[in-house]
Parts: sequence; structure tokens; C-alpha cells
Amino acid sequence: MDYLKLADLLLPNVKETPEYYRTLYPKRNLKPNAMITRYAPSPTGFQHLGGVFAALISERLAHQSEGIFYLRVEDTDKKREVVGAIEDSTNTLRDFGINFDEGVIDSNNEKGAYGPYKQSDRINIYHAFVKSLIKKGLAYPCFCTEEDLDKTRTIQQELKINTGYHGKWAVHRNSTMDEINSELTKGTPYVIRLRAPEASGKRVVCNDLIKGTISMPENDQDIVILKTNGIPTYHFAHAIDDYLMGTTHVIRGEEWLSSLPIHLQLFEMLGFTPPHYAHIPTIMKMDGASKRKLSKRKDPEISMNFYKSEGYPFVSVAEYLVNLINSDFQEWRDTHVNIPCTSFNITLENMSKSGALFDILKLNDISKNVIATMNAATVYELYLNWAKDYDVKMSNLLIENEEYAKKIFNIERENDKPRKDFVKWLDVKEHIEYFFDDLYKDSLTKGYNFPDHIPMDEVRSVLSSYIGVYDYSHDNDTWFATLKELALNLGYAKNAKTYKKNPELFKGQLSDVATIVRVALSNKTQTQDLHEVMQAMGEKRVIERLSQDFK
Ligand code: GLU
Repeated sequence: MDYLKLADLLLPNVKETPEYYRTLYPKRNLKPNAMITRYAPSPTGFQHLGGVFAALISERLAHQSEGIFYLRVEDTDKKREVVGAIEDSTNTLRDFGINFDEGVIDSNNEKGAYGPYKQSDRINIYHAFVKSLIKKGLAYPCFCTEEDLDKTRTIQQELKINTGYHGKWAVHRNSTMDEINSELTKGTPYVIRLRAPEASGKRVVCNDLIKGTISMPENDQDIVILKTNGIPTYHFAHAIDDYLMGTTHVIRGEEWLSSLPIHLQLFEMLGFTPPHYAHIPTIMKMDGASKRKLSKRKDPEISMNFYKSEGYPFVSVAEYLVNLINSDFQEWRDTHVNIPCTSFNITLENMSKSGALFDILKLNDISKNVIATMNAATVYELYLNWAKDYDVKMSNLLIENEEYAKKIFNIERENDKPRKDFVKWLDVKEHIEYFFDDLYKDSLTKGYNFPDHIPMDEVRSVLSSYIGVYDYSHDNDTWFATLKELALNLGYAKNAKTYKKNPELFKGQLSDVATIVRVALSNKTQTQDLHEVMQAMGEKRVIERLSQDFK
């Protein structure tokens, strides 16, 4: 067989050679151990936790080593492409602060000198490599139809032998030029397959940077590298791309482990040195007493939209994921307060091999600590950004009352023991709505929430006395002393102990008086520190609320 002639017959217009592209994309000038990593989503759906997890690990390893992290879009399967999926990937990376140095920015733009970074824009490049494989006799056209392949599979199943296109079942492997020419003249559609080495029973061994040494049977299938429409398969395209884009480390989900023999074979047959591999354990969750994979159907937390809509700050989720990558992160965090989680150096060796266990309670715990470190202005800004998409009424209130809102957010914040009641932005409203007059009034439509054991006459009497002694300029201590003095004068015990000893001597205890004031102001029996709440509300609003006609 004249392979050169065959190559020209099949790909007559392909003039460039692999060498041409090799010179077009020279080795990057980086320091010796710098890692070049990539995130390579297929735009067939929306971003999920596993993808962001892989992207974060890849980005961290590249940037920790002063290397390059790039975003490649693997869109060889046009049938499964979902509109908006590319933007969803780039927006998600941006939101999570996973910055890439090169790659696709949106459907129409990209940056970097090793592109194009979208596989559908690289068809000419793939064809050059396919042609060179054909010239070497390492790839050949196959004219089998789906039905032909199905038939073969049925026979193989009956014979209980390995199914697929291999060995003697690879019927077009040794077609003559005449046979090929005759199919081409008939216009029979064809794919290009790789001529896998004869089955040797050998195993491929790979030293995975997370899983350790892995040994798997060598691939014996003549895999398709170019589909009938001239578009390469993912397997083929990714090998060419990782080679030309200089990827040193492929970090991806362990669902790709079973493809590794094919990938290593491709690298070998193409004459490329393979990258290092790290296959990330799948994110699992506890379901009763057993672990299972997160499921798209059952677990909303698999989708990145869940975190957005619930209003988890992106930094909280990123911090949680770093925690999931390396469990010693928490120890580091305890001694490195108030610096970004990205200052922690992740390592693959310290990663659990068996499965990362997703735990929403841990995320919540991390998130409330993350929010506790934020100042009021940051809380205002991030909450407002969230509210613009998910609670327009609240966002309008925040915009109209910016200074007031910042005062509200500063209650029990920016101090040594900041409040930790916000886990995510969705929780914030219930803690702050009473500060806004309209929302406060709305809450009154269901009645006042004064404790049942305090008669309304007593509420009115306490509040009218309190207005007489209330002074906005009082600091916390004076404010409290004034409240206490009033309570004692009105016949309340100074504390629970005194009250419990002789309940018949008192109307109640000091905390009852505080509760009356608190409910009058907020219609809630629990709030943040009452003095701080009153300072934030301002004198006018406090007096207005205290002097309502309580019925
Ligand atoms: N495009 C593949 C995916 O959708 C990427 C596989 C890889 O990282 O090699 O997951």
C-alpha cells in the first residue's frame, strides 16, 4: 500500500505538516518546574461542582509554580452543544476567581499565543496530524456503517469475545487502494481510525499523581480519530491540543481514567511525550450510612447555580473546595486568618485517593466564618450584587439606603468577635428586614410578637416610661444602666436568679423589659445587640417605633 498516495487521496488540501505547527507553537519560556495546566470543558451543559473542583486544582497548581493555566473549549460534539454553555464556563471561572492566562473568553473571543483554544476552530491542525499518521500507515479509512458495527458486535457477544473494532474484526484495516478507491467513488461515508498495535496482552502503567501507580490493559481497539464529517473525536483532538499547547499536567476527573490507555497510546503513536496525569476523585456525599456520587437528578448542590442562587459567596465555596483538596488546609487557616485561601499551597500528594466527601454543613460553617471576616462595605457590596439577581425589592432598598444599610451590616461586625449569623446571602433578609420601615410594617400585619406572658397594658406602660429615659447619645454602658434602673423602678427583678427566688415580689425580670423594647423596635424576640440595633436605626426611627399605638 502506498500510504503517501492514500494520505493525499483522503486529505488532498492539507498542506501543513505537524512540524509546521510544532514551530508555530514553540515551548514556553518558563522556569523549570512551572506547570502548564488546563481546564477543558465541553460546552454540553452547565458548570458543576466536579468541573469547578478540577479547574481550581489546575489553576492553583499552575500559578503556585509560576506556570500557565488555560481554558480550552472541547466542542467536537456539535450535536450535544448547549447554547450559553461557553459563557457559563467563563463566567463561573471568573466568579470563583479562577483566573486563566490564556484561552476562550467568550463564544467569539480568546487570548493567548497557543490558540485557537476552541477545538472547532482547530480542524486544519488536526487534519495535518491525521494526514501524517496516514502517511506512516498508522491510520486508515473505515467505511463501516453503524449497522455493520452492530452486526459485528452481536457476533462477538455470541462468541463471548471482546467487542469492538480490533484485530481481524477491523475489516478495513488492510483494505487495498482499489477497494478504498471504489468506496470513495461511490461516495461512501468513512471515518479515519488509528491502527492500534497488534494485541500483545501487555499492560500500560502510569504513575498518576493522585492515584499512584495504575496498570491497565493496553488498548487494542482501532479507535476513530476523525468522524465522517471530518471533525476529530475528543480523544484525538485533546492529544494534539495538549501537545501543541504544552500541557505538562492533565488534571481531570477520575471518570477519564478508563480512557487513559487510549490517550497514552495516542501520545505514543503521534510521537509525543505524554503529560503527567492526576485523576481527581469523584465528589461523593453521604446518603444515610453509605457514600454515593453526587447526582444531577437528586442533588441540587452539584450545580454551580445552586451556590449562586442560595448566595454562597464565591470565596466561601472556593475556600470549601480548597479544604476538600487538602484536609490540612484547616490547620493552615487557623494560623492564617484574613488572607485569601489561595495563599495556601495545595499538593496532590495530600489529596484523598478514595473520594472527596461533600458536606454542606462544613461549607456552611466555612461560609459563615468567611462572611464574618468581611467588613460592612464588602457585605453590602456582595449582598447587593446577589440581591440584584435574586431579590430585586431588597436590592432597591439597599441602593436607596446605602449609608443606613452599611450601618446595619456593621452591627456586631468589624470587631474581635464578629457576628456569624450569615451563612449565605439568602439568609440575610430575615436578619435585617425589620430595619426598613415598609418591611417592618408588613410584619405587623400578623400582630405584635410580644411574649404572651406580658399583658399589652404592661407593654404600653413600660414603653411610655422608657421613651422618657431613652437618650440616643448614651453609650452602651449608660444605655444599659438606664434600662436597668427603669426596670427596677417599675418593679422588675435585676436578673433571673433574683426573680426566680421570689417571683411574687416582681412583675418580671430585666430581660422582659429589654424584650418589650426589642419587639417594639423589630417585632422580633431576638435580634443582634439591642444598643447597636438602636444606634443603627437612628433616634427618630427608634422613637417613632416606641411610641406606636400598641394594641
Ligand atoms: N472535555 C472533557 C470533559 O468534558 C475534558 C477531559 C479532559 O480533561 O481531558 O470533561
